[in-house]
Amino acid sequence: MNKTMYAYGAEKSAIREISAFAAARKAQIGADKVFDFSIGNPSVPAPDAVRRSIERALELPPCELHGYTPAAGLPAARQVVAASLNRRFGTAYTADNLYLTVGAAASLSISIHALTNPGDEVIVIAPYFPEYRVWIETAGCACVEVTADQERFQIDAAAVCAAVTPRTRAIIVNSPNNPTGAVYARANLEALAQVLGEKSVEQGQPIYLICDEPYREITYGAEVPWVPGIYGNTVVCYSYSKSLSLPGERIGWVLVPDTMPDADRVMCAMAGAGRTLGFVCAPALFQRVLMDCVDEPSDVEAYARNREALTAGLARAGYTYVEPDGAFYLWVKALEPDAEAFFERARSFELLPVPSTSFGAAGWVRVSYCVPYDTIVNSLPAWEALAASYR
Ligand code: PLP
Repeated sequence: MNKTMYAYGAEKSAIREISAFAAARKAQIGADKVFDFSIGNPSVPAPDAVRRSIERALELPPCELHGYTPAAGLPAARQVVAASLNRRFGTAYTADNLYLTVGAAASLSISIHALTNPGDEVIVIAPYFPEYRVWIETAGCACVEVTADQERFQIDAAAVCAAVTPRTRAIIVNSPNNPTGAVYARANLEALAQVLGEKSVEQGQPIYLICDEPYREITYGAEVPWVPGIYGNTVVCYSYSKSLSLPGERIGWVLVPDTMPDADRVMCAMAGAGRTLGFVCAPALFQRVLMDCVDEPSDVEAYARNREALTAGLARAGYTYVEPDGAFYLWVKALEPDAEAFFERARSFELLPVPSTSFGAAGWVRVSYCVPYDTIVNSLPAWEALAASYR
């Protein structure tokens, strides 16, 4: 067998391990006594419109309903997504700019394979979603970590500039951010675009920006700028996992905008990556759901309420955290330098966040607050007791 694949299969995902521990612990001592803040599974139900759309689709002739679609997805579904983006961002995309995928994970994996060659380097902004490293390394590239600024966790454009080498081919940018909840400000993205533009000219070849946006709609008032409007060589990776609470249905897309000088050839490489990785013909039922539901608003009210209760409670208990502008994660400073040791202490109070080591950073934990409101409120005495144990 392939040793590399074996190693990735054998490697434990801290998030999934903690989540499995939480389930076992709940069975042992009662669900209401364990506070599982590990996984980013939306706690808000999918909109009713999704259910109605599925019911309508079930009326189609079975061979049509369950049949293959083109590898990139139904042209009509891609056109509906393009039209929605055009309404929102004043763009002029068509079905040809989109490749439908099985979620943002596939969008990212396809993009990395399409835009890089083995031996290249891909920059990530630490802390970062742990799977980036897996996808980058599987494409034969090196994952180069650049630390975000430690105040607001925005991109440190000067640090990115210093990390660029002749082998740098792409950078992955995730906003709203998992794990910090940061939303990158327009000026911050413009500063990054300037660096990437200058370095691309210097090197005589483009450095691509891979924009990972599954949390685009989950914000608390902050602007989420449309990145292809700021930097031409941008591809956008999106999914409906979080915005429509459909993570198990595996539906998303990659956009290759016409602002990219070599857009047609890049789209051809995306199709090639989709083909070689086996990411063709995204779930046909959910391609049809997109046609009906693409403009359904995300229900962020419950997350906003959770965010309010959690931040107020942790502030009262004396914790330091990054004020989250988007997504449903709170980045909380551990009360000792070793995040793993802090996690173990938290676990003894039945609190289960994820230590920052999983995200390429030391000294923090991520608290996923896409949980029932009662879980937040009922966990606050345990957070207080945990803080008190350090005094
Ligand atoms: N990117 C980020 C930052 C994520 O947090 C996730 C999932 O949690 C993904 C990508 C993968 O999303 P999907 O479930 O649509 O594959």
